[in-house]
Amino acid sequence: MSDEMLLRAAIAAVSNTIAAHADELSELDAAIGDGDHGANMKRGFDAVAAETDLIAGKPLPEALKAIGTKLVMTVGGASGPLYGTLFMALGKELAQAPDDRAGALRKAVDAVAARGKSTIGQKTMLDVLYPVADAVAAPRPIEEIVALAHASAEATRERLAIRGRASFLGERSIGHVDPGARSSALIVEAVAGVVR
Ligand code: ADP
Ligand code: MG
Repeated sequence: MSDEMLLRAAIAAVSNTIAAHADELSELDAAIGDGDHGANMKRGFDAVAAETDLIAGKPLPEALKAIGTKLVMTVGGASGPLYGTLFMALGKELAQAPDDRAGALRKAVDAVAARGKSTIGQKTMLDVLYPVADAVAAPRPIEEIVALAHASAEATRERLAIRGRASFLGERSIGHVDPGARSSALIVEAVAGVVR
């Protein structure tokens, strides 16, 4: 599949799954945050999908940077700059080393961690993104990576939030899945479905 077809399919798959799960993501956020994560993500990926022709016509690194920029401008909240950084950094790294997609993903996740002053184990999207980056590098089969993404999101339930709004709840953040971890797992599943 050409990069353009891959981009078109991936943009459609991600925006569809975010739209289909927007209420669920906002409910997760209502439990430990302010209840806007689904609406934030849907606004962002709807905006990306609306520019599919423009974005998918670009070389892959430029397209990823354009997606990241769009997300920063439209998602808002804490997650907008973080997801924006993920895609912008992925584009930047792929421009420098086009053949090392696993390395680019790992560096992009590191860029999110730097931006969020956060790391794995703090009940955020990084609890999904780091295991997935490791599994891509291993490399593990795609079905395993998807299962790992969902299991990693589910595993945030028992964790204490150390970053983001949920951290204001202290111990009361325990017992709920992190909304950003859930949205990351949904994005991984959607992209995997296209890459497969
Ligand atoms: P806000 O918290 O501003 O309302 P969202 O609800 O859209 O923004 O996004 C919340 C999600 O963002 C959290 O569930 C978490 O996964 C992620 N998040 C928040 N702060 C950080 C951070 N410092 N590092 C990594 N992820 C973070
Ligand atoms: Mg929120």
